[in-house]
Amino acid sequence: EFQVAGRSNYLRIDLDTLTHNVNVLLSKCSPHTELMAVIKANAYGHGAVGVARHLVNQGVRHFAVATAYEGRELRQAGIQGFIQVFGNCVGEEMDIMRQFQLTPTVTTEAFLTHWAAWPSYTLAEQQSRNSNIPQVVIKVDSGMSRNGCQPEELPTLMDLCSELGVPVHSLMTHFAQAWDDPHFTLKQLDTFLSAVQPYRKQGVKLHAANSCGIIRGFGTNLDLVRPGICLYGLPPDPSEETVKTVEEFGLRPALSWIARPNMVKHLKPGRHVGYDQTYRLEKEETIATFALGYADGYSRQLSGKGILTTAEGHEQPVVGRVSMDAITVSVDRDTLLSTPFYVYKDDFSSPNSMASIARALNTIPYEVGTSLAARLPRLYV
Ligand code: PLP
Repeated sequence: EFQVAGRSNYLRIDLDTLTHNVNVLLSKCSPHTELMAVIKANAYGHGAVGVARHLVNQGVRHFAVATAYEGRELRQAGIQGFIQVFGNCVGEEMDIMRQFQLTPTVTTEAFLTHWAAWPSYTLAEQQSRNSNIPQVVIKVDSGMSRNGCQPEELPTLMDLCSELGVPVHSLMTHFAQAWDDPHFTLKQLDTFLSAVQPYRKQGVKLHAANSCGIIRGFGTNLDLVRPGICLYGLPPDPSEETVKTVEEFGLRPALSWIARPNMVKHLKPGRHVGYDQTYRLEKEETIATFALGYADGYSRQLSGKGILTTAEGHEQPVVGRVSMDAITVSVDRDTLLSTPFYVYKDDFSSPNSMASIARALNTIPYEVGTSLAARLPRLYV
């Protein structure tokens, strides 16, 4: 179970757990509701291509990323089907979107006109070529005041789509929060549903719910839901209460970060460890060095604060500074180069669960996951 697989330092992603989480999330939605897997930012650190390949095999047909470049990476890896790009795109990004059949998130008339006219950007030429214009998703700002057209602008955008011959795949909104303040979430949902009401009978799909929306039951009867963080079994915030809610909902973390030392030393009292001599040995200790550091996403803030755990659950403190490519840990005397350790553990109750790490760093599990560097090998089991 706790295999090292010929690597000194790697992420292990449990695919059955991902499947389990998809099924749990879908089981809380209406039977007709489909799942759009949000796999932006390298699937929150879990590896977008590895996650997408697995989910495609599990029947997931919709994916979302943040940028055209992320979408291109998926297409180049052979991922077919619907890929929505949440972020805005200009210039070469639009070229990539068209070349790789990615679906944009539209918020302005200007974008729609460019989309319809691509690649010449003269509408007349495009229309004379009579080529099919690919579909778009239109985003309505129902109260987050970030991206999205204002609800009252939606009719103009919809009319422009008809005029330009741009098919509308779906209409969406995004919740500013869907956890603590149900009145605000309901207001957003109402604003969205009123704005889209005239278009429902045209067969345009609707979606609103992110992970919190699904757990709290907002928008789970629409055509699609868009979970990100909970797909990976991570809580949206690291509080113990939220961790408990997510666990009781039936979700499970899918990722562990596993490493074994590349050097183990028995050092005498008086020695200092690491940059800036921040740790001094008071007694003899065994110090293990691991080939991972802040360039891998192990935050420098964990200097003198982080913990690695053994397979048996022994907690071993990170001592001295976290370097770019190395950490030093005070370990049990019998530690070998072959001894595996959990850097992060796929267990809600572990001191190195990603939620615990987020708490230690005063951030959220999203940032812990998305900080996991591209250079870390990812092993899908
Ligand atoms: N939908 C949109 C538009 C998003 O931007 C995001 C992520 O930020 C999600 C869905 C997924 O959110 P979460 O990871 O909270 O489920």
